[in-house]
Amino acid sequence: MVATDGVLVTRVLVVGAGPTGLALALQAHASGASVRVVDQRPEPARPSRAMMLHARSLEVLRPLGVVDSLLMYADTAPTVRLHLRGRVLPVTIAELAVPDTPYPHLTLLPQAQVERVLAATLESRDVRIERGVELTDLTAARSGVRARFRAAEPASFDYLVGCDGADSVVRQAVGIGTTGGAYDREVVQGDLELDGELGTDTAHVSTTRAGLIFLFPHGDQATWRLLATRAVGGGPMTSRDGQQLLDAARLKARVSRLAWSEVVPMRYQLADRYRHDRVFLAGDAAHVHSPAGGQGMNTGLQDAINLGWKLARAAYATDPQTLLDSYELERRPVARVTTAWTNLVFWAESGLDPVASLIRTVLLPVGAPLVLPTVLRRRQLPAAGFRILAQLRVAYPSSRLSIDDGRPESLPIRVGDRLPDLPVTVARGDTRLQTLTAQPGTHLLLLRDAPTVETADESIHVHRLLDRNGHGLLAVRPDGYVGLRTTQASSPQVPHWLHLTGAI
Ligand SMILES: Cc1cc2nc3c(=O)[nH]c(=O)nc-3n(C[C@H](O)[C@H](O)[C@H](O)COP(=O)(O)OP(=O)(O)OC[C@H]3O[C@@H](n4cnc5c(N)ncnc54)[C@H](O)[C@@H]3O)c2cc1C
Repeated sequence: MVATDGVLVTRVLVVGAGPTGLALALQAHASGASVRVVDQRPEPARPSRAMMLHARSLEVLRPLGVVDSLLMYADTAPTVRLHLRGRVLPVTIAELAVPDTPYPHLTLLPQAQVERVLAATLESRDVRIERGVELTDLTAARSGVRARFRAAEPASFDYLVGCDGADSVVRQAVGIGTTGGAYDREVVQGDLELDGELGTDTAHVSTTRAGLIFLFPHGDQATWRLLATRAVGGGPMTSRDGQQLLDAARLKARVSRLAWSEVVPMRYQLADRYRHDRVFLAGDAAHVHSPAGGQGMNTGLQDAINLGWKLARAAYATDPQTLLDSYELERRPVARVTTAWTNLVFWAESGLDPVASLIRTVLLPVGAPLVLPTVLRRRQLPAAGFRILAQLRVAYPSSRLSIDDGRPESLPIRVGDRLPDLPVTVARGDTRLQTLTAQPGTHLLLLRDAPTVETADESIHVHRLLDRNGHGLLAVRPDGYVGLRTTQASSPQVPHWLHLTGAI
């Protein structure tokens, strides 16, 4: 800890400036920590892998003031043409029947743009990203962490977070093992210019015996990104390979230029623990999924938002260990469940066995044209699927930070759930809950007749909801989850919870 103007400030080292590390640095900084970010790559730019940013990620990033910039570059009403062995099914997924999120849509946004926006915001807040600085080793002790680097002097920190990807040096340095395995398929992807009839206003997905082929009008180094799965062992795509994939997908286009290509080996992996003393793992360092469902980057971003405030506030908490341990207890089960269902979807998308192949070449082409229009018309079904995909169902009801002290009738939100974006009225007029809470810190939502909660702490924001009667309150954590509900704002549980979470 360092004392700045008489205030104790926690020093956090973030290793890795991918999406997880950048979001973690922003959240820890916004919660009062002093942050250093290092990345071994000399240059910020690298080809995108993730293409989708989900609604819950946008929600948790909103208090950090980055969402407007992210959405400026995003496609929020993506259309897809499904090519099903000769039949073409146009699918538009725009406004979904999910009224409790400000983002009821799929959001196509290449990972490189996400990283650019997060990095620019961090630097605008005077947190420099030290590029070309590699963490080589660390020593963790009860009182702090000593880090050693290539291209920088050794330094000590209160906490170190490994956001250093699937082969995490941090994870290996503290001896945390992993459970998982390698898939027998790999992804090959490349950026291309195409001649032909394809308009750049829609993505294309095609079913083939060998797997699904995706073509997005969102390349980093050319107009199109082509992505396919195949059996392991091939090299990067050539123009000829690209053409063969387009032909197999029955897409009427010719490759005029291949700008770049890579092969990505696929694995699923879960770290046995997320914490070793003062060292934590987040993002791909903690869990790796197949790309199915676009969950990896999104899970990492949400790990970051969960952990960042806890590191900054632990020094103030009555029991820092409970606060810090809650990170793994809340987030590891999310990764475990995600790995399980993305394994299944990846098998259906790319499995080389006859059953998976049958699903893609017979069941999907025959079933989808019959079922999909009805499913899309019944708005509740896509909405239910969207809630899972967009990670809106993630909740921490059994966390030790979740305290249920009685259910306020006028605001019956469960403890541990995300704060839904419901309409409410406050003194300055009608608004929505996630607009009220769109700034860093803890939010206390007082019901209309609740006694005032006095607090001098600038990071606690008190809002009175004039259209919700009762004497209770809801306390919302800095990551947007409801931590406490009570029918009496005067309850001793209120100061207890504020101390438990390090808010005061
Ligand atoms: C083909 C493909 C498609 C995908 N599509 C999606 C999708 O649509 N949606 C989605 O959510 N996810 C998707 N993913 C997953 C997503 O790309 C990853 O989950 C995401 O990149 C993880 O971010 P991260 O910040 O945790 O790690 P990384 O992106 O791996 O970043 C780690 C950083 O740490 C740095 N680093 C490593 N070691 C050190 C060291 N010793 N010292 C200093 N720095 C170090 C690296 O240089 C790197 O910058 C996809 C993945 C693949 C392969």
